[in-house]
Amino acid sequence: MTDPVRVRFAPSPTGFLHVGGVRTALFNWLYARHYGGQFILRIEDTDASRSTEESIEEILASMKWLGLDWDEGPHRQTKRQALYREKVDQLLNEGKAYPCFCTPEELDKKREEAQAKGLKPKYDGTCRNRSGATPEGAASVVRFKAPQEGTVTVRDLLRGNVVFQNEELDDFIILRTDGTPTYNFVVVVDDGDMGITHVIRGDDHLSNSPKQALLYDGLDIPRPEFAHISMILGSDKTRLSKRHGATSALAYRDMGYLPDALVNYLARLGWSHGDQEIFTRKEMIEYFSLESVTTSAAVFNPEKLQWLNQQYIQNTPPVDLARHLAPILVKEGILPEGHGLSLEEIAKPIPSLNQRAETLVEMAQKSAFYFKTELEFDEKARSKFLTAEIKPHLEKIASGLSEINVLEHDSVETLFKQVAEEAGLKLGKVAQPVRVALTGSTTSPGIYDVVLLLGKDTTLKRLSEMIGFIKSRG
Ligand code: GLU
Repeated sequence: MTDPVRVRFAPSPTGFLHVGGVRTALFNWLYARHYGGQFILRIEDTDASRSTEESIEEILASMKWLGLDWDEGPHRQTKRQALYREKVDQLLNEGKAYPCFCTPEELDKKREEAQAKGLKPKYDGTCRNRSGATPEGAASVVRFKAPQEGTVTVRDLLRGNVVFQNEELDDFIILRTDGTPTYNFVVVVDDGDMGITHVIRGDDHLSNSPKQALLYDGLDIPRPEFAHISMILGSDKTRLSKRHGATSALAYRDMGYLPDALVNYLARLGWSHGDQEIFTRKEMIEYFSLESVTTSAAVFNPEKLQWLNQQYIQNTPPVDLARHLAPILVKEGILPEGHGLSLEEIAKPIPSLNQRAETLVEMAQKSAFYFKTELEFDEKARSKFLTAEIKPHLEKIASGLSEINVLEHDSVETLFKQVAEEAGLKLGKVAQPVRVALTGSTTSPGIYDVVLLLGKDTTLKRLSEMIGFIKSRG
């Protein structure tokens, strides 16, 4: 029987969670969920000078927003120093690693000499071959005794066997002068200790894999399976970066993207299932396999992401959408913090807006007329449409509405048509001023929907305020 799948996402908390990182997390998550395995979150914070608590918080918030739930962790490498020390000692005791006493000055000199001879600078093994008395003072670092000839083959599930020449490697450092272990070492110790069966990560780590493979062998830990996925590129085929627009997961949240849309979009960057574009999470989990992941670089296409977002906005049930809209309404200053509205209440205007909005920010702005007690007016629209000539028609609409017991789409429509007909005006000529009076602007959901959404009291109040405004202008 094969071992149950255990995969991990291991971000270094040196900044926000980038969409490339999200895709790595997502592929691991999908792999774990597909095989009923475990998804482990490990924070690689050994580089104390670059890691921040703020970044850890942001990574966790991003994962939660995206719904990429983890089964174990977050483990933090800074809390696991004793284990790393134990493993360094194991390698030292077994003669697979050695203390190196070379000073930085000596190493610089050796590097310069090698360069002068046109050789690739690499550690020359002075301390590997040291015999006799140990030099005075503490060792600067601990180095791993890497094989000097032959090859190391890394089996990659996406790329097949990748062969590296050992002479390209040197006796790399596993413990620094300040006593902290290095990246390649802790990754191997952790993946071994956590029983990771598959390492799915970006191909920027492929060049680390021969060192890691040798460390697994040295520590007598079975190597996991590797799958190095290609990088995400911008439209100009260079590595995706700030120059190409927003790259942080939470920036997409703040711009009004749905987590399902971003997850769906990123799943399709490098993975496919026939020509299907839209997947529920259940489908993604069911269909995901590494066999259908490609190694060719994936190009990030913001327009496609936006299209998907719109699809999700249109097709997500309003109450579910309301959960994501609520914080945006607060952020946009449309609802006050602690507004106390239920999701059902927030969902009310959604059916009249979800066919038009590309993002939730746009939806929030378009629903401001519904949530705000004080309307903000588009001044140009107000002077253009709310004129002395229109006032009698507004009055007729107001009195007509006050006579209808229960507002319904048909009764409101009949009233508007009647008023327009009596005035000898096209329906739009009456509807547009009412729209401005009720919403503050010339674009809104259908006017009858607006009236029904606001209800009789608010509609009448806004109409009467507008009538007052026209009068006051004389
Ligand atoms: N901490 C590494 C990174 O953030 C990932 C290491 C790995 O996946 O092996 O790039």
